[in-house]
Amino acid sequence: MSSVLNRSVSTMNGGGVGGPVGGGAALGLHGSGVIGARHLREASTSSPLQIFVRAKKKINDIYQEIEEYVAETSLFLQGLHSDRRLVGEKEVEEFSAYSCRVAGIKEVLARDHMKVAFFGRTSNGKSTVINAMLGDKILPSGIGHTTNCFLQVEGIDSNEPYLTTEGSTEKQNIRGIGQLAHALCNNRLGDSTLVRIHWPKTRCPLLRDDVVLVDSPGIDVSESLDDWIDKHCLDADVFVLVANSESTLMNTEKNFFHKVSSRLSKPNIFILQNRWDMAASEPEFLNEVRKQHMERTLGFLVDELKVVAGPQAEQRVFFVSAKETLHQRLSEAKGQPNNTSGYPEGFASRYMEFGEFERRFEECISKTAVVTKFQQHTQRGNTIVSEIGQGVSRVMERAWEAREEKMKEREQLWARLDHTEQELHELTSQMKEKICTIVEDVERRVSNALNEEIRRLSVLVDEFAEPFHPDPLVLNVFKRTLHAHVEAGLGSNLRARLSSALALNVESNQAEMTNRMLALLGKEKREIATTLLPRREPFEILYRLNCENLCADFQEDIEFRFSLGLVSLVQRVLGRASSRITNSRHKENIPRSVPLTPLTPSNEPPQFGIPQDDWSIISRFAVASVGSQGTMGLALALGLMFKTVGWRLIVLTGGVYGCLYAYERLTWTNKARERVFKKQYVDHATRKLRLIVDLTSHNCSHQVQQELSGTFARLCRLVDESTSEMQRDVRNLEREVQQMEDVSAGAKKLRNKAQYLGSELTTFYQTYLSQDHD
Ligand code: GDP
Repeated sequence: MSSVLNRSVSTMNGGGVGGPVGGGAALGLHGSGVIGARHLREASTSSPLQIFVRAKKKINDIYQEIEEYVAETSLFLQGLHSDRRLVGEKEVEEFSAYSCRVAGIKEVLARDHMKVAFFGRTSNGKSTVINAMLGDKILPSGIGHTTNCFLQVEGIDSNEPYLTTEGSTEKQNIRGIGQLAHALCNNRLGDSTLVRIHWPKTRCPLLRDDVVLVDSPGIDVSESLDDWIDKHCLDADVFVLVANSESTLMNTEKNFFHKVSSRLSKPNIFILQNRWDMAASEPEFLNEVRKQHMERTLGFLVDELKVVAGPQAEQRVFFVSAKETLHQRLSEAKGQPNNTSGYPEGFASRYMEFGEFERRFEECISKTAVVTKFQQHTQRGNTIVSEIGQGVSRVMERAWEAREEKMKEREQLWARLDHTEQELHELTSQMKEKICTIVEDVERRVSNALNEEIRRLSVLVDEFAEPFHPDPLVLNVFKRTLHAHVEAGLGSNLRARLSSALALNVESNQAEMTNRMLALLGKEKREIATTLLPRREPFEILYRLNCENLCADFQEDIEFRFSLGLVSLVQRVLGRASSRITNSRHKENIPRSVPLTPLTPSNEPPQFGIPQDDWSIISRFAVASVGSQGTMGLALALGLMFKTVGWRLIVLTGGVYGCLYAYERLTWTNKARERVFKKQYVDHATRKLRLIVDLTSHNCSHQVQQELSGTFARLCRLVDESTSEMQRDVRNLEREVQQMEDVSAGAKKLRNKAQYLGSELTTFYQTYLSQDHD
């Protein structure tokens, strides 16, 4: 028995189904052989449908990765959004749009299945064929159960079948075929309406493999064929025309497929010549009828529709009995596989041919569905990942360019920083030297000018024209005013001599300093710094000669003294001697260091050798000693003179002496007193002022030093600020360089991932879609 089966199977596989199957030989087949074939089909792990199942799983997995990749890329780009150089707003929007596109494709992919649509005239056995393929009586069939709408059978994971009608998600209960027929009768649906029957996958191997079967109303009874095609046929992978082998192919059937092939390019059409069991009653015509059917059907497929080439067309036409197949499969399911005696002759052959149809159909639908469903998705996926890859490559390039730019900027800034620091160092030492030179020069000039002015002090004092009066009160006022006059005069004379030259010198040096320092700043910074530099009053030296304090100890001596009087003579003699002593002592006692507080000179006059008071004591002592012995001395002197020169000469001398006295006494006017006063004042002030020459010149040079150092310090601060700003900029640039490196590395990773996904899609294409695969 099994050898016959094997022969039959090999005939089917090798020779195809074009030729007449050995009906007579097959008639003697035992049921066990049929069962074997059935089991072969079910147990086949390499079912052609698995191609689609595996491809679907693979493409879904790839799209899952693409979705994650798109999300990762979007996140990455959104992170860069703030940096317009790297990614523009439009690009971010474009990238976010990819996630919607991928989600849409994923959704379609999840729904994708292999769809087979059955067409034919009423009662040709469409429902019976579907039931036979599913191995269960799912669809109502028979004269009374004519399908008047589209019925789509699809698998579900649960064990309870249900149906849903178009436009509703309500699950309607169906427990069996009777209930389904009843449910369909209750639904007054149009013939284009779709009713979906959700059947447990566990009960039908075909449904497990993602095949969806669609039964249609008879094409002979419906007028809305165009609607049908648009609604239900455009996404079908395979069309099965269930024809009645008892009659020839009708025009209605042919017209329908003409319409289909005008909308779809080369649809996959299988033609089942059903009810072939009926031909068994007339075995003498069997081969002839089969041949005739075959010729006409092939003529329709090859010549009229031109959907398939001649040799392949023979593998699209099968002579079967759906009723027998269904019956046999139901018996097998009930555990009665050997009961084949009730079938007409040639059952085994018809049964095998049905199996062969299924195999060819599975091969065809699987390959077609992979192409129709996944080819476009593969191309779209490729486009998406390559566009994203290009996008992230652009970001990577931009980030790298930005990094290069930042590095260049950083190098330049470093060089500028180094240069500025070096220049500042050099400039600082140069400026220090320059300030020292200027300060020394100022000190020298002030000292010279002050000495000159001191020498010309008498002129200044003589210019003082306030009325003079010896009265102590008036004299005090006169003295104070004279102090002020001398102070103002000296000040203005010094200013006239020095100020403009010094100020010019200081300002020109300040300007030079400023220019050189500002040159260290960048152009922008220089402009800002120029506006920031405080506007200063023109520099002016303060001489600070406080004559009132300096000459506070001045004590005038404007008492009348006869120039030839004894006291005067003694004083003159003693004065000369004392001046000699004083000078010699003075030389020894000149203080080497100038007092530090010149503006508050001590009221005590300086003590050079013997103090002034001591000298007046000496002179008074001399005068007093002369006065106490006057009478005795005068008597002795006169006695001696009388004896030696005679009295005439004495009288003459006395007369001349008296006249001189009278003259001097008469000319001792206020004017004379003022002259003496001023002379004494000049002497005193000269002495005092000489003491503070060094101090004043030092003070002035100090002011200049302060001014220049202050300016330099301010400029240094500006340069320091600028250098610390540059250091901050360098740090920022370093951070930015690092950021750009990170961005570039991130973009590179994403680009590589795009390449990986692209290669995955290419592998998918080569495995499932390329011509080589076929
Ligand atoms: P549909 O209207 O095209 O769906 O046809 P059905 O599947 O409802 O079948 C109509 C009638 O034809 C039913 O009574 C079936 O039992 C019968 N039928 C279907 N296929 C065959 C077959 O291969 N041989 C015979 N003898 N009857 C069949």
